[in-house]
Amino acid sequence: MDQRTQTAAILAIGDELISGQCVDTNSAFLARRLAERGIRTTYHETVGDDGSAIVDALVRTAGLADVVIVSGGLGPTADDRTRHALAKALGVELELDASYREHLEAFFRQRGRPLSEANRIQMMLPAGAIPLANRMGTACGMSARLARADVFCLPGVPHEMRTMFDEQVLPRLTAGESVIVHRAVHTFGCAESDVGAALSDLMTNSGPVQVGTTVSAGVISVRITAQGEAPEQTRGLVDQTADEVRQRLGSAVFGQDEDTLAAVVGRQLLERDQTLSTAESCTGGLIGKMLTDLSGSSAYYRGGVIAYANDVKVSHLAVPEELLAEHGAVSAPVAVAMAEGARQRMVSDWAVSTTGIAGPTGGTAAKPVGLVFVGLAGPNGTDVAERRLVGSREIVRLRASRAALNALRLAMRDVRT
Ligand code: ATP
Ligand code: MG
Repeated sequence: MDQRTQTAAILAIGDELISGQCVDTNSAFLARRLAERGIRTTYHETVGDDGSAIVDALVRTAGLADVVIVSGGLGPTADDRTRHALAKALGVELELDASYREHLEAFFRQRGRPLSEANRIQMMLPAGAIPLANRMGTACGMSARLARADVFCLPGVPHEMRTMFDEQVLPRLTAGESVIVHRAVHTFGCAESDVGAALSDLMTNSGPVQVGTTVSAGVISVRITAQGEAPEQTRGLVDQTADEVRQRLGSAVFGQDEDTLAAVVGRQLLERDQTLSTAESCTGGLIGKMLTDLSGSSAYYRGGVIAYANDVKVSHLAVPEELLAEHGAVSAPVAVAMAEGARQRMVSDWAVSTTGIAGPTGGTAAKPVGLVFVGLAGPNGTDVAERRLVGSREIVRLRASRAALNALRLAMRDVRT
């Protein structure tokens, strides 16, 4: 058996990538997925929509790695050059692929749209290449043997690329003899230094399991990685460390891997068969967005009021005018009244509210930029927390939204009904 570790090179194609107009998330996805398969990515390259540059890159990377994964440039337009480049690198002509033609005709028929002349180029594959089906779009993927490598060309659109990779490429890859397992444990509400102190012995990274932290707008994620030869054993090591991390960090942990605060709160509400509404001032609907980003959220999310102006806080959330006059809109009593007003008006079990100064303008000595009050009204009364958040407008709003969802998460943990 070949004991050599399999290696991969990743090639991203597109002018929008090299010009910085679009961030290359495809390559990051591919490298992570390959690592899970025990295939080590040793090389990344980004090339513009330039046919001969793509040919060069294909030939070069096919001499560097066992697997080359290409994304982008398979569309029907003139700037999509990948198929021609692959044909040229292979030294073959493009040929019509009859099976793909049927697929494409069915795809368009189903959508009641005519197949355009431009789409016909998408039925062409380099002679001898294997077509890779695209369930999400029109661009056919393709795979071929070039030099020492298996080359896979995938579409650029991220969800098309991901689906094709998982369904068409993964089953064709030979797993490496060692696997890499990643897990992330997410926390909210603690300082990175506290997390570091609680996990310092795990973070020395002297053993087979690597532990590190990353931070993003209040969410501190503990990343756990292990590489090993036996998949089960390696996963076991990672699971064991994740359990230890969860135990040490306690209620600050809200989930793992793909979990978001909104998703976790949504699950809690579903389990309890309860509902939520929102009253947002400084977050301007961001909490509502986070909640409704999830399909199925109508089962627990009643709705929200973006109460930016004082008189809207009065008319739509029943905030008493005297409170606004006495304490100002950015105050604990107003956050409380907003949450209670939303809970009552929208008839929900819970309601969260935010009022604050997102900045960069509008701060005063008494009420500086970043001051946010987060209210939470529930079956057992109303709570309010004062936060002093640091960061750009975007970060302040994101952290305030997450703080509101986290307050609700913790309240539901504590109040068992
Ligand atoms: P299509 O059939 O949709 O035209 P395509 O293979 O031609 O597919 P591209 O035209 O290269 O795809 O890319 C389509 C869009 O996908 C780009 O405009 C960009 O928004 C996104 N995209 C392309 N490559 C990447 C990448 N590496 N990372 C993130 N997004 C990407
Ligand atoms: Mg393109």
